[in-house]
Amino acid sequence: MKFDVIVVGGGPSGLMAAIQAAKRGAAVLLIEKGQKLGRKLILSGGGRCNVTNRRPVDEIIKHIPGNGRFLYSAFHEFNNEDIIRFFENLGVSLKEEDHGRMFPVSNDARSVAEALIHRLKQLNVKIYTNTTVKKLIYEKSATTGVILQSGEKISAKAVIVAVGGKAVPRTGSTGDGYAWAKDAGHTITELYPTEVPLISEETFIKQRLLQGISLRDVSLSVLNQKKKPVITHQMDMIFTHFGISGPAALRCSMFVQRELKKQQPVMMKLDLFPELSSAEIMQKVLSLLKNSPKKALKNALHSLEQEKLLLFLLAQAELDPEQVCQQASPKRLEVFCALLKDFRFFVSGTLSFDKAFVTGGGVSVKEIIPQEMASKCKDGLYFCGEILDINGYTGGYNITCALVTGYVAGEHAGERAYTK
Ligand SMILES: Cc1cc2nc3c(=O)[nH]c(=O)nc-3n(C[C@H](O)[C@H](O)[C@H](O)COP(=O)(O)OP(=O)(O)OC[C@H]3O[C@@H](n4cnc5c(N)ncnc54)[C@H](O)[C@@H]3O)c2cc1C
Repeated sequence: MKFDVIVVGGGPSGLMAAIQAAKRGAAVLLIEKGQKLGRKLILSGGGRCNVTNRRPVDEIIKHIPGNGRFLYSAFHEFNNEDIIRFFENLGVSLKEEDHGRMFPVSNDARSVAEALIHRLKQLNVKIYTNTTVKKLIYEKSATTGVILQSGEKISAKAVIVAVGGKAVPRTGSTGDGYAWAKDAGHTITELYPTEVPLISEETFIKQRLLQGISLRDVSLSVLNQKKKPVITHQMDMIFTHFGISGPAALRCSMFVQRELKKQQPVMMKLDLFPELSSAEIMQKVLSLLKNSPKKALKNALHSLEQEKLLLFLLAQAELDPEQVCQQASPKRLEVFCALLKDFRFFVSGTLSFDKAFVTGGGVSVKEIIPQEMASKCKDGLYFCGEILDINGYTGGYNITCALVTGYVAGEHAGERAYTK
């Protein structure tokens, strides 16, 4: 059997690529190694699927720290607002939550996956599930088909590789596509887990002194060797038994990975009161003490922070929590106030791909035509989704990347069916 376009991988990028190629009139085959299409998509957003984000395109690009700017041309063709319209047309209404995040009104990721699959079927896309592609067939400068694990060869005028990265491999994303890209002459930039919790060897972490403490809207920075912030994120954060997690920690993870190449371990800075200046926090502490001169420090300051964290920071500042306020050393109080604005600790690594939301690194975007998602190395070869060296923050940015690059790859691979 001969197809115009073969799409390998049934994640969001492959589903969208197959739909768009079929809309262009191409005879499309979608091959997925798992039993079901969109396994990661169904898990995404805690089972609710944060399908895209409503921010303006420039803001979206800023939230894709791994080569977001490469996507400007693709966004010109199909952007986040188009994604919203696309799903509305499929009968999946989306709603906006905090930080511009868009979710299906149903709160069920399956409604997103089912709508995509329904559209594939309407467009007569041939679907092979439980079918693993072993490699791609290249003849001189052209891509002419795929070889399945079974040894069967299937020909096509174009192949779209949409097999994802290496994050959460149990969903099928086991990094199979990198070898195929290399065979075609592509560079694979270093792969690393990102949007992933951070590990710390600090004694207070090992002793689990702060485990479970969840902080709202704090400011977390990754510091370079000169102790200057390379990135700061103001979001929520949580201390765990191995280190830190939560949105602020996940967003810092890519920058920690980069710094770990230069220094081991990497210093982090936590500002518990980003909205207050150092002078204002000092004022606040002093007025709390003044209001209760005879109370123990821990009682006078109880409104400032959660008890476990307050006791920890008092101990760090060498202040006795039982000491009455009026006897507290002004010098030690200064240290305590400084800690509230600038608490530093080291992180030594991240959790593995098993626990990462996204893969950093991938097929170098320098070798991809940005308006088409076509390979510069081989004719008839296209890449989309997480296999590319593109990674966004959590917040709907990665599925957006997958859908946008999938659309563009499908559009241009589909068009090729008529020109060849
Ligand atoms: C737990 C979790 C939650 C997430 N939540 C969100 C969220 O809410 N919003 C967001 O924007 N991003 C989220 N992400 C990230 C997002 O899901 C991914 O970036 C996105 O799924 C990537 O899409 P993709 O199509 O490139 O690859 P994938 O979704 O990884 O799909 C690739 C597919 O290719 C198949 N495949 C692999 N190798 C082969 C082969 N050899 N032959 C045939 N098929 C093959 C795999 O089985 C898989 O189905 C989340 C990630 C995780 C892990």
